[in-house]
Amino acid sequence: MSIDKQPSCDDPFDSLLPVEEARARLSAALHVVEETEQVELRKAIGRVISVDVVSPVDVPGYANSAMDGYAISSASIPTDADTQLQIVGTAWAGKVFDAQVHVGQAVRIFTGAQMPSGTDTVVIQEHVSVEHDMVTIDRNVQAEKNVRLAGEDVQRNQRILTAGTKINAAEVGLLASLGINRVAVYRRLRVAFFTTGDELCALDSHAGKPLAPGMLFDSNRYSMQAMLESLNVEVVDLGIVRDNAEDTREAMRKAAQLADVVLTSGGVSAGDADFVTQVFHELGEVSFWKLAMRPGRPLAFGHIGNAFFFGLPGNPVAVMVTFLQFVQPAIKQMMGLKKTAPFTINATSLSSLRKSLGRVEYQRGILGNNDQGDLTVASTGKQGAGRISSMSNANCLIVIAADVASVSPGDTVEVQPFHGLFG
Ligand code: AMP
Ligand code: MG
Repeated sequence: MSIDKQPSCDDPFDSLLPVEEARARLSAALHVVEETEQVELRKAIGRVISVDVVSPVDVPGYANSAMDGYAISSASIPTDADTQLQIVGTAWAGKVFDAQVHVGQAVRIFTGAQMPSGTDTVVIQEHVSVEHDMVTIDRNVQAEKNVRLAGEDVQRNQRILTAGTKINAAEVGLLASLGINRVAVYRRLRVAFFTTGDELCALDSHAGKPLAPGMLFDSNRYSMQAMLESLNVEVVDLGIVRDNAEDTREAMRKAAQLADVVLTSGGVSAGDADFVTQVFHELGEVSFWKLAMRPGRPLAFGHIGNAFFFGLPGNPVAVMVTFLQFVQPAIKQMMGLKKTAPFTINATSLSSLRKSLGRVEYQRGILGNNDQGDLTVASTGKQGAGRISSMSNANCLIVIAADVASVSPGDTVEVQPFHGLFG
């Protein structure tokens, strides 16, 4: 793998790396996990198909009725006056009427029942009158109506799902409808993560005591785990690593041995206590990017052995925003997914938004509808990178381009909805 080391943290302001360029560099450096496995369909939800699926059958497997009514030959439809047909039997779903049906005859039929041979039309029961074993149909009945044809949905040998497709509820249903009970998928990615900082207090060791002076709760480990789990990767939580080279080195080594991807928060700016930078230089090949974005300027990316490494900033909002912009697409790519970029839509801003020129801003927004049903977005208010509550109040990020200085109410803005990542 080769990683472009420019620009580094020492670069002047004008060499900030554009987000799109950082995404392109990541994408060029990453590769799809190679190993695949066969899994039972029930266990395949959230996994990514590794081999195109070709249908072994037609769906429906046979022509069947779409309605309750009477199956007839279209040759029995009268051309002048209404006419009577003789009812010769019943076709149930799962119970075939197996005699030949002739012109002048009808078979009582229920939804899903196989069309009896000699029939190609179903007259719905609301359009007939029945007397003893005779049914009257009117001349306006249309030929070949209310019938689902064999292979109408899926044809035998049709490529029905391509490699790189995520298996969701619809795909599971589709595969089940083809009788496919095992499916080839990429193996799950394993992601190890830890947070760094002497100021961090772990929730599980805290046991209800007040925080010591100068300490804060380690929230990043929770938000990182939640975002990772929503991508259906295996997670390995390596806890809090204190700000010293020894602990950071040990955690990095361990993480790189365990996982395909290593994710950390904090310690990537140029401060004295930023040991992630130092240790990473020692153990792997890395670039430190100063990104033209806000929040989340510093980002470390590289590899230690076979594991890819992402060093995210420490601020809680910056962690989430950089995860969504870079780590999520990277993990999706490595999982074998075809679609990796964040999903974006346009909405009309209800708020006046300010920002500085030269960097893309990801402001927290609330997506909704106006009376006309058009999409609108409002700011959550103050946008500090440490305000995790602004992420929780939001349901989207408002993406404001580097060369835009402000947004006025009524302007169209680009929005990345959270839905799909957070539930
Ligand atoms: P750093 O990049 O390590 O200098 O961290 C930047 C800011 O993010 C500091 O104010 C930290 O206290 C805060 N921070 C770092 N790690 C965490 C964490 N795991 N949970 C919550 N806040 C954090
Ligand atoms: Mg720190």
